[in-house]
This record gives sequence, structure tokens and C-alpha cells, in this order.
Amino acid sequence: MGTIDFENCTLENVVAFVTEEVDSIIVVDGKNDRYKTIVRKGVFVDFIEEQGLYKDLIAKLWYHFNNSSTGVVEDYHVFIPTSGKFIGKYSKRLNIECHGVPHVIQMTIYPTAQEDIYIFILDELDGSQYVDETLTNNKVKSIQNTYLFSMYVDIVQDTTNSISVTELSDEVMNQQLKYSEWRMMIVNMIWPDDQALFLQRTSPEYLKKNLAPGKTSSYDCLMMNLEGKYIWVKLIFSRAETNNDEDFRFVFMVQDIHDNTVELMSTLKKYEELASKDTLTSVYNHGRIETEIRNAIESKKRKQQNTSIMMIDIDYFKSVNDRFGHSVGDATLVRFVNTILDIIKARGAVLGRWGGEEFVVVLYDADAENSFNFAEKLRNQVAETDFENVGHITCSIGITQIDINDDFGNAFDRMDKAVYEAKSAGRNCVKVI
Ligand code: GH3
Ligand code: MG
Ligand code: MG
Repeated sequence: MGTIDFENCTLENVVAFVTEEVDSIIVVDGKNDRYKTIVRKGVFVDFIEEQGLYKDLIAKLWYHFNNSSTGVVEDYHVFIPTSGKFIGKYSKRLNIECHGVPHVIQMTIYPTAQEDIYIFILDELDGSQYVDETLTNNKVKSIQNTYLFSMYVDIVQDTTNSISVTELSDEVMNQQLKYSEWRMMIVNMIWPDDQALFLQRTSPEYLKKNLAPGKTSSYDCLMMNLEGKYIWVKLIFSRAETNNDEDFRFVFMVQDIHDNTVELMSTLKKYEELASKDTLTSVYNHGRIETEIRNAIESKKRKQQNTSIMMIDIDYFKSVNDRFGHSVGDATLVRFVNTILDIIKARGAVLGRWGGEEFVVVLYDADAENSFNFAEKLRNQVAETDFENVGHITCSIGITQIDINDDFGNAFDRMDKAVYEAKSAGRNCVKVI
């Protein structure tokens, strides 16, 4: 550390001292996107090039996660030009990482009389207490704070203020960004299917019409985070309390709701599955397979797709119960399903239990001949299988192809009639109507 003679020191002595002590001085030409280092010591020898592009310098200083060298994905680099503009003196503490070691940097920026020419002074703060302090702060924040992003907006002035990105820094960012520009940049981070809704809900006209003073509104969508991964977020708009209809200031926030939303969706899916499953055989239950038939009829009207439905009825199943008991009967129903399930799945067909020993299959992309051959395959598979305890059983199958003029009732009646015909023809056979 240099010395200063308190009694006799001059401005030159102080300038020389500061130049000696300070870790890095950088001169920036924002207009031509370049910088050069005048002083470069300590961590900055490795962290910053001697000269380079200004946008790379900004990316290095700002566009990385706290205490990490992990950069923010390219998509967010559209904001770099607005981050590098300074009107007055600006000071900020940065947490960077170099070769796996965290460093705390005090940065001060001096705009000069020439537009877009700045002096950056960077100094590494001594002592590990700063590192500990930021690590603790980050931990507390990550527990308490699920807000990823917030800013203050004035739609009438078309301005944004106090932009805060909690994953990058605990301080607000220095950005002079128009709200209209911000919207058009951020829309690219929204999941493509949600972009139209985002543009509608963030448009000044929509907000003016739907957000009364003091009121908050929100909606959920998928948005790319700084690591480039799409996550579920809640977009929150909260308008300032005002008596003036022409005063449109509001706070915009992005809240991370990913884990909760994913959990909620999987729970809903579980309940939906539970509600559509037959408890004995685990294939679709009566209600769900009926829905499948109705959907297939609707889809025939829209897409002209050939779809067949078939009913499989086990032959003389009453005698299985009578001879071996009801519980063996139940186990046989489960084995029956497992016997045909591979063939069903391989073909992308859908199987459900209509009730008792009757099952329904919805077979997409199949004309009468395809369906007949498919049904024959099922029938043969059953006839050839040796079922535990009960030996051989057979089944009768009735098929109909869905017609464009069908409703559920007449399609079902034809299929039912086809089963009846198969039974009348001596069972263990397939009939098409
Ligand atoms: P068919 O060849 O004419 O179809 O003769 P079937 O005996 O299979 O026909 P029917 O409709 O007369 O009787 C169906 C029998 O299926 C009645 C009942 O004993 C049995 N059944 C229906 N549901 C269940 C069930 O959930 N478990 C068991 N174990 N048996 C069932
Ligand atoms: Mg029956
Ligand atoms: Mg039967």
C-alpha cells in the first residue's frame, strides 16, 4: 500500500496514490461499442481483456448470475444496449466469479462531457466479509423471494423504472427503456403459444381498460428464464392508487411459480386418471371409453378419419364364476385384459371396460377390413391363451365403422347388434355391421 504525506500532499500525490491503489480503470466508447483498460490489476488481469467490445464488457459485468460465471442466455442480451447508457454518476456493487472464486467489486461509472464516453473504475473490495455477506443475502433471498423480476411502468409516458432482476443483483438496474420497447423484447422470452395473450394483456389499451386504480391482475404462462429454460411464471400487474384517469403507473412483477404449478398439474392429472380408470382391470372405465367413442364420432365429422368401434364380450363367462368362484372370475378378467393389451397398445387403439365381461375398443385409422383383421388377431390371441385356473376361454367381437352421420346411439346400437350376431353364429368369432 502506498504512502501519503499528510502535511505536504498535493493533488498529484493523491492522483498517483489512487491510480496505484485502484484495480482497474476502463475507458468506454459506447457509440462505437469498444473499451480499453488504462489500469488492469489483480482479478481484472484474468477477468477483463485489455480491450474489446463494450457489449461484451457489459455482459461480463451484469449478465451473469450472482456469484457465478454462468452467463444469461443469449435471448436476454437484447437488453444489453440499454444497460450500457449512463446519464449521471452511477455506482454499484457486483458479485462476480473468476476461476471458481467469488469476488466482490465496487464499480463506479463517470459519464464524460462527450456523449457515450464513460470512465469505469472497478475495485475489488478486500476481506472475505463481503463474500460471506453476499452469500448470506442470496440465501435469505432465495428462501423468501420468489419474484424474479419487477419494474415500475408508466404507460402514459411510455417509460420503465427501477428494473430489478433478483437473480442478477439485489440492486435495481440502470436501464432507460421504453415500456413499448420492453414489451416487444420480452415477448420473445414467452412460450410461443402464450405470446399472443402476452401482447394482448400487456398492451396499453388493454391495461387502461381493465386495470382500475389500486387493482391487481395476473395470469400464468411459460417464460424462458435467464438459464434458457421455460418455467411457469405468474405475471402480475398492480396499478397505483390514483384519482386521475390519465395516470397510468403500475408495478409489473414476474413471480416464479414453477414448482407449485408442476406439482398441481401432476396432481390434477393423477385425479383425472383415477376418474377414468376401471378399478379392477386398470383400463379406461365405462365413462371414459364412452367419451372416447363420442370424441371419435366428432373427429370423424371434422377430419373424415376412418374409425371403428368394437365390443368384445367373453363367451360363457357366467360358467367361469359358477365353476371356479367369483374371485377367480375377477382374476381372469384382469388376465384377459393383459392378454390383449400389448396388441391394443402396439396399434395405438384405446381399450375400456364397458361393464362386467364386456370391453370396448376404439380403433383409429381403420376401415372395415383393417378392423376385422385386428379383431381376429385379438380373438385368436385369447383363444390360444391358457388362462391360469380356468384353461381356455373365448370371446365374441362385434364391429362397426363410424359413419359421418352417426350419433352415439346409432353407432353403439350397430356395434351391439354385431356382438349379438357373433353370439348367434356360435361365439368365438368376429362380425362387422
Ligand atoms: P355369453 O357367451 O352369452 O356372453 O355368456 P355369458 O355368461 O358371458 O353372458 P351373461 O351376460 O349371461 O353373463 C355375464 C356374466 O359375467 C355374469 C356374471 O357372472 C359375470 N360377471 C359380470 N361382471 C363380473 C365381474 O365383475 N366379475 C366376475 N367375476 N364376473 C362378472
Ligand atoms: Mg355380456
Ligand atoms: Mg359374455
